[in-house]
Amino acid sequence: MTAASGLALNTATLGHNLDGAGAGWSPEQTIDACAERGLGGLVFWRREIAGREVALGERVRATGMAVVGLCRAPYLVGHETPREPQAVMDGFMASIDAAAALGAPVLTIVAGGIEPDTKGPATSLRRLEERVAKGADYAAARGVRLALEPLNPVYGANRSCLTSVRDAIDICARIGAPNVGVAVDVYHVWWDTDLARQLQRPDCRIEGVHLCDWLHDTTDTLLDRGMMGDGVADIVGIRRAARDGGYTGISEVEIFSARTWWQRDPGLVLDTMIERFVSAC
Ligand code: ZN
Repeated sequence: MTAASGLALNTATLGHNLDGAGAGWSPEQTIDACAERGLGGLVFWRREIAGREVALGERVRATGMAVVGLCRAPYLVGHETPREPQAVMDGFMASIDAAAALGAPVLTIVAGGIEPDTKGPATSLRRLEERVAKGADYAAARGVRLALEPLNPVYGANRSCLTSVRDAIDICARIGAPNVGVAVDVYHVWWDTDLARQLQRPDCRIEGVHLCDWLHDTTDTLLDRGMMGDGVADIVGIRRAARDGGYTGISEVEIFSARTWWQRDPGLVLDTMIERFVSAC
């Protein structure tokens, strides 16, 4: 066991969540580089593995690493979702199928923003809950757990009507399915003074912990995430709160950084995140 074995790479850290970003490593190169460094696993984005889920999942497991998760379900509410509810569910179920094919135990859900022609988050959150509840059985039948990830409130309008761990746990509790829990991402929760208390709730099930940092003078609230230790988040405290809330799983590093880390050699990025996992997390 090394420190790196408790760490997974979310491939967004190498820019793989966006077309044309990062150094352009293939999934195979990425898998091999993570295995060489003794990482515990990987979290892929759908766009980089589409149609190759089975083979890439097998390749990861052949190295001794785990596929930790898949990012992500399409938005379930908001301006970017199809207006026809069945089309939304079809997209959701296709993403669950992709997770199952990859052998990913967890599919991350980013809610999507505020529904057209509505004000405030209430209607959007209610529709989100209905759709997650409908998908939960389909996911369970395929061995997939669903991780509802609340996003930082800066994204409340366009990316996630779900902006607090409290609301995410409330939704999970009302759905009441054993395969629906929450993902805790440092970038989205670092400001939340109620985080530790929420994660202690008996109805809280944590399905993932995502690491990065919030830079003091961030220049872009989407693509300027910091490396752990470079910003203002209490990462040690957040990880402790997750452990106290029962989380025993791996930590994944998820850094969207168009102007800094995506410009660097991916090998250096991997080495740095391992070093910072030891020194700053
Ligand atoms: Zn995340």
